[in-house]
Amino acid sequence: MPAQSGEPLVVVDHVNKHFGELHVLKDITTTIHRGEVVVVIGPSGSGKSTLCRAINRLETIDDGTITIDGKLLPEEGSGLAKLRADVGMVFQSFNLFAHKTILENVTLGPRRVRKISKAEADKHAMELLDRVGIANQASKMPAQLSGGQQQRVAIARSLAMDPKIILLDEPTSALDPEMINEVLDVMVQLAKDGMTMLVVSHEMGFARKAADRVLFMADGEIVEEAEPEQFFTNPQSPRAQDFLSKIL
Ligand code: ADP
Ligand code: MG
Repeated sequence: MPAQSGEPLVVVDHVNKHFGELHVLKDITTTIHRGEVVVVIGPSGSGKSTLCRAINRLETIDDGTITIDGKLLPEEGSGLAKLRADVGMVFQSFNLFAHKTILENVTLGPRRVRKISKAEADKHAMELLDRVGIANQASKMPAQLSGGQQQRVAIARSLAMDPKIILLDEPTSALDPEMINEVLDVMVQLAKDGMTMLVVSHEMGFARKAADRVLFMADGEIVEEAEPEQFFTNPQSPRAQDFLSKIL
């Protein structure tokens, strides 16, 4: 039976991670519920990307557990490929396949992993490209598109796998300022459509519009967790106050 809105979808339970001597995730515990939008904010080096990568099993963890829709993250093998299909990931640097068209970029994953036909994959991809406002660019190569357009393609590509959650790690940080809003608008729309999202972003406007909850991380810990309005107007911890005074 599919999980209902509001049920736990990603459960991170007492997770620790070291890189050598560096303790990058310190006893992280949090639950992302189906349909929820969680924005992760915090200084550079605080472990935000590592947390995303751990949830997508691009990084191993030392101890603790991560479950996705009730299933423990597998170590390897076919279970891992299935899990990766359930957990979409969008990076700062788009990572489109440079030698494939926009349409092929979106259809590649579904065709390989979901084993659907070309016709079906193309149809679904065109719907998704339409949703992110890029359908008229489908036959172009990535380098012919602006950064904002490429990032919207990356979002469409991750949606093409029908993920249960999408992790977006600083999706607008590499963009020229005038392109940030077109990507944020797509993300706000996804949130409105009920997509479960974990977004690393310092874009307060997005957080205020779309987030159910802000996680503030510093030095590998979740220091504060609050609704966006409360977090931005009345942060409780000195570290969050200090951080916000620098970025706002
Ligand atoms: P954030 O995304 O919040 O900036 P990261 O999760 O990227 O932080 O990094 C957390 C810490 O772990 C940083 O000090 C970073 O230098 C370190 N780190 C990240 N990836 C690696 C790695 N593969 N090997 C060693 N150290 C790493
Ligand atoms: Mg990062």
